[in-house]
Parts: sequence; C-alpha cells; structure tokens
Amino acid sequence: MNETLDVLIIGGGLVGASLAIALDGAGLRVALAEAAPPRVDLQPSYDERNLALARASVNALEALGVLDAMVPATPIRRIHVSRRGDFGAVRLDAAELGLPAFGAVLPARELGNALLRRLDDCKELVRIAPAKAVAIEVGADAVEVELQSGDTTRRIRTRLLVGADGTESFVRGALGIDVVRHDYAQCAFVTTLTTEKLLAGAAYERFTDSGPVALLPLGERRAGLVLSVPAAMAAEVAALDDAAFIAFVHKCFGWRVGRLSRPGKRKPYPLARMLAARTTAARTVLVGNAAQTVHPIGAQGFNLGLRDVLTLAELLCEAHVARDDPGGAELLTRYVEHRAADRAATTSFSDDLVRLMGNDFLPMRALRSLGFHALDRITPLKRHFALRSMGFRGGVPTLSLT
Ligand SMILES: Cc1cc2nc3c(=O)[nH]c(=O)nc-3n(C[C@H](O)[C@H](O)[C@H](O)COP(=O)(O)OP(=O)(O)OC[C@H]3O[C@@H](n4cnc5c(N)ncnc54)[C@H](O)[C@@H]3O)c2cc1C
Repeated sequence: MNETLDVLIIGGGLVGASLAIALDGAGLRVALAEAAPPRVDLQPSYDERNLALARASVNALEALGVLDAMVPATPIRRIHVSRRGDFGAVRLDAAELGLPAFGAVLPARELGNALLRRLDDCKELVRIAPAKAVAIEVGADAVEVELQSGDTTRRIRTRLLVGADGTESFVRGALGIDVVRHDYAQCAFVTTLTTEKLLAGAAYERFTDSGPVALLPLGERRAGLVLSVPAAMAAEVAALDDAAFIAFVHKCFGWRVGRLSRPGKRKPYPLARMLAARTTAARTVLVGNAAQTVHPIGAQGFNLGLRDVLTLAELLCEAHVARDDPGGAELLTRYVEHRAADRAATTSFSDDLVRLMGNDFLPMRALRSLGFHALDRITPLKRHFALRSMGFRGGVPTLSLT
C-alpha cells in the first residue's frame, strides 16, 4: 500500500471495529489493523463478558447493520438498583416511562461475531490482521506506522491515526500521552447462571460491602453475573466449588430471582480505572478503552467508546465532504470539544458510583437511602436517570437517535 490513507485504525476490538464499519462507504481511504487474527475466539475482548448496551448503542449498532434479528440480544425492560444493608431501592420500568426497553444485553462474543460478519461485508475498508503496530513517526502531513505480522514489517502512511488499541494502548504510549490510573483493588468474576424465577427483562445492580454485583438477563431464565470482590479475596473465590460459589453469590445478591443454579465458567478481571491526560495528539485520536477505561459496574465502557467513534465518524464524513484534512488540527479540536462533557460525566459517574456505594459510613448510608427513596418516587427524576443510562447524554451522535 503506497498511497497515503485518510484514516488508519489501530485495534479491531469492539470500538475500533465499530469505527471501521461506520466509516465504510463514506469515500474515505480507511484501513483497520488488528494484532489478533480475525477470529472471535482469538480476539482478546470478544469473550464471555456480558455487555449491557444502552438504547443509544443498540440504535446505532442496528443502523450500522451490526445488530439484527439474528443476533441474540435480550432487551432490558426493568432495572433494579439496591445496596445491601440500606433502606429502599430504585426500580425503573421501561413501560412505566413509555419506553420499549432501556437497552439490551449481549455477550461480547456474540457482538464480536456480529462485528466480524459486518466487517466481511465492508466494501472499501482495508483489513490488516494479524498486524501489530510497533513504531509510529509523526510528520507534518502524515503519520507513518510500522506494522508487524510475524517476521514481516510494513510501513503505512495515514493522514489520521486512530488509537483503538485498548487499555494498554501502544499508540498512546508511543505518543508520550500520560495516563492517570487508579487500582480499585477489586476483581470482577464474570459467569452465567440459571435463575429460578423468570427474569422478564430485569437487570439488577446490587452494591455490597465486598463490592458491586450485577445480574443481567440473558433470555428468560439465564443471567450474566458480574461479581466484584476485593482483590485479596479473588484467589479464594476462584477456588470455590460451584455449590460454595452459588452460596457466596446468594450472600451478596440475595434471593430476588429465586435459587441460582448451573454456574458457567468463571473468568476473573482485575479492575482499574485509566484516564488518558488527553485524547488527541498531532494527527492522532484515542478512542474507547485507549482513551478511558472505567469500572464495569456502571456498564459504560463500550457504550462510551461507541459514542467516541460515532462522533469521530460524523466529523470525518463532514470533513470529507468539505474536502478538509481528516487529521487536521481543526477536526481534532472539534472532536475534543464534542466529546469533553460526555467523557467527563461518564468517567466520573462510574467512579462515583463505586465510591458512593462502597462507603459504609453511617450518615452516608442514610443519605443514600434517602436518595434511593426520592429517585424511586419522583417520575421526572427517574426519566432523567433513565435517559442518561440509555446513553442519551452529551451531543448525541445522529446514528444513536435512529
Ligand atoms: C467484566 C467486564 C464487563 C463489562 N461490561 C460492560 C457493559 O456491560 N457495558 C459496556 O458498555 N462496557 C462493558 N465493559 C467494558 C467494555 O468491555 C470495554 O470498554 C470495551 O471492550 C473496550 O473496547 P476497545 O475496542 O476500546 O478495547 P479492546 O476491547 O481492549 O480492544 C483493543 C484491540 O486492540 C488490539 N491491539 C492492542 N494493541 C495493538 C497493537 N499494538 N496493534 C494492533 N492491535 C492492537 C487488541 O488485540 C484488541 O483487539 C465491561 C468490561 C469488563 C472487563
């Protein structure tokens, strides 16, 4: 490839693949380079984690042709948030608020499969995989990136480089962008369980002294569990046999969905927050986890990353029509302006949620109970909360409004 590309995306995870799809057919010369071979079982984040997709994300993925009736997503019709030991709970019911659903739950593996299928249909996109970015040189008119596939290396020039290469982003490091990290000293176990009661589209978030627990509907009687525990307890929880694990989940989560049974394989994820000091550098943008990684309990990471790339795709299409430079300083400034409020609000929301709900100080518990009580009873507040959790925040990208 001797020509200079308009956009080179490094990282074909959930966010980078979504950007490549959003840009296909726009008339831009785009390539997607991914370190792993293009197979769902080989890509690190196309795994067993269950993703709660906000309504705005579902809309956008449908509009992009990624989600359709064949993809087994379960609608979230009710949300129940509580804190063990506190009085009250917040119950949101989509029907009560005149909405069909708040969003949907989908295993990351299924979303990965759907993205790979849709990538196969892209007409103009150049896919390079497996290929790992190993060096970056920024010039005035273009960025040159060295990609390594086995023993071969090649250099590609692009007017805009997009770092969608995850929490440990090579692109971010190579450009010397600082990060602020916070280790939550927690580990999340992800698995699936069978519930005794019908879930009827209910998603639960329960906060406990040992960490937050989320139970997401996967069909009528199967649920995806995200159970966070202090890192010091992780080895002990990993070693529990199935019966002891179920007993531990009941202790944390309670009996709202009846007896739990048939736990699937347990996968642990150490939990940390990472915020890049800036999301742009000369001719470069960071998106998704490369720009910010948040605690999974708020179910925000991919939803936020998708809003990053939908906004970027809109700006790139506008720039293309106006014949502007896709890597020019003006576009990068506009991108930062468009994303600033949502990025700040969503990253602090996820962090505040963990801190506020983890606080066992008695006056804090009383305030929390009052907050639950108010939110549960005041419909306009509920509606505001619901709209934000559905991803309608910041400058909403057009595709999310479909
Ligand atoms: C337990 C858990 C539950 C979660 N639940 C939710 C949820 O309910 N809702 C939600 O919105 N989010 C959730 N998330 C967050 C979500 O999974 C992430 O935000 C999302 O996967 C980030 O996608 P990404 O494409 O930015 O990064 P990644 O998924 O990490 O992808 C990065 C890609 O870049 C590639 N790569 C890395 N380095 C290079 C290189 N040098 N060259 C080429 N390629 C490279 C990697 O192979 C990888 O494919 C959850 C996360 C966890 C851990």
